[in-house]
Amino acid sequence: MNNNKTLNEIKSNRNEEKIVECDVALNANIDDKYKRKSVPNIPNISENSLLRHYTNLSRKNYALSTTMYPLGSCTMKHNPLVNEKIAKFDGFSSVHPYQDEETMQGSLEVMYELQKGLSEISGMDYFTFQPAAGAHGEYTGLLIIAKYFKSRNEKRTKIIVPDSAHGTNPASAALAGFEIISVKSDEHGIVSPENLKQVLNSDVAAMMMTVPNTLGVFEKNIKEITKLMHDNGSLMYYDGANLNAVMGILRPADIGFDVMHINLHKTFSTPHGGGGPGSGPVGVKAFLKEFLPSPFVVKEEGTFKFHFNDKEKSIGQMKAFYGNFPVILKACAYIKALGADGLTEASKQAVVNANYILSKLKDKVKIPAGNCCMHEFAMSLKGALGDGIRTLDVAKRLLDNGYYAPTIYFPLIVEEAMMIEPTETESKQTLDEFVETLINIFEESKTNPEAVHNAPVNTSVKRLNEVEAARHPILHW
Ligand SMILES: *Cc1c(COP(=O)(O)O)cnc(C)c1O
Repeated sequence: MNNNKTLNEIKSNRNEEKIVECDVALNANIDDKYKRKSVPNIPNISENSLLRHYTNLSRKNYALSTTMYPLGSCTMKHNPLVNEKIAKFDGFSSVHPYQDEETMQGSLEVMYELQKGLSEISGMDYFTFQPAAGAHGEYTGLLIIAKYFKSRNEKRTKIIVPDSAHGTNPASAALAGFEIISVKSDEHGIVSPENLKQVLNSDVAAMMMTVPNTLGVFEKNIKEITKLMHDNGSLMYYDGANLNAVMGILRPADIGFDVMHINLHKTFSTPHGGGGPGSGPVGVKAFLKEFLPSPFVVKEEGTFKFHFNDKEKSIGQMKAFYGNFPVILKACAYIKALGADGLTEASKQAVVNANYILSKLKDKVKIPAGNCCMHEFAMSLKGALGDGIRTLDVAKRLLDNGYYAPTIYFPLIVEEAMMIEPTETESKQTLDEFVETLINIFEESKTNPEAVHNAPVNTSVKRLNEVEAARHPILHW
């Protein structure tokens, strides 16, 4: 259609008199002090100029559809675009949460199937989809643990968290009213039963663990740890934000975990880091079912129904209705598309890709956890760079080279840390190019340290004063 023609037609068809009448009527009811004193300063530009402005702005975005995300821990994993289409299907997007169950059997079936899928993957018996993020899931899981001990008239006030844990773990435990005991990792970057025994007593409600941990190392003492904890009457919480190393290979419930959360917005096809919405389903073993928030979906005689827990026993609602449904839908579509074999393959490939990068870098940097990793690894750049050049500078220089900056200075126990997680879907060529870029920056930091220290120069925003940004944020202008 010729837009100009349409616009002219509209103009010529306008009843100018009517519009003037209308303006007068509106103006009559507006107090003078609210009326404009001058003509609004709206740019008078062509449609093309406007289109180009916004298209150029969108090109300044860094996106998975343009380059790789080497981030570790909270990485942007594979998010097949087809699932965004599915999330918009009319039959799902036009459903209202107040509709009768029998009129939304399809949506209930999706939730039921995802509960079943996550149960198969994790070994947990029941899931709630209410939590909107990983941290929200941790908080939900910890409230369930608190309620469980309350129902047994046991006063347990402490949660053990390894020093390699994601920061949300101790934060969620504190929010749920617990006191936090930190347990030190040993020289291999894992929790040793000996260290654990020193802090274990009858006050301990649970221990939160990430397996493989945030260093990308498998906690090989895990069975002994879960036994120690259970013998002490305590529960085990699994931080399953990133399941990319273990799907189809290890089930948290089988190695002794009682409660866990999963980030659908990391492992299961929703972009992480886009500001939401997220979804952090919480899974529990059967003995904790009655404490879950209501409702969750059950199947009775071929019909899908909402199940409501006893109000007195449940921890109550954590979010309106059933959680972020489009995220649930995408996760279900993703799991169904890959199937058990595909998910296992994804995990194996994620581990192979991370080890490939590690093996190419291991002679250049220190890898505190050894020469083998799971789906990600942390390295220390201390000693690998030119004088005065730090990991932060390398991350900034990667931006100049068109890469998103990896996670840096985490985990806290690694000096000058940089974490890498390539994900399962990157090709060998992409991984080779990334490693080459990184090694070039290490070299450049010695031959031309200024260039690395002043990076980024190719981005629209140059080096920011990060302390200033944190201490004196400008939240509006
Ligand atoms: C991302 C992440 C979390 C927190 O998840 P959010 O959705 O960002 O709240 C917790 N633990 C680990 C290991 C993570 O990677």
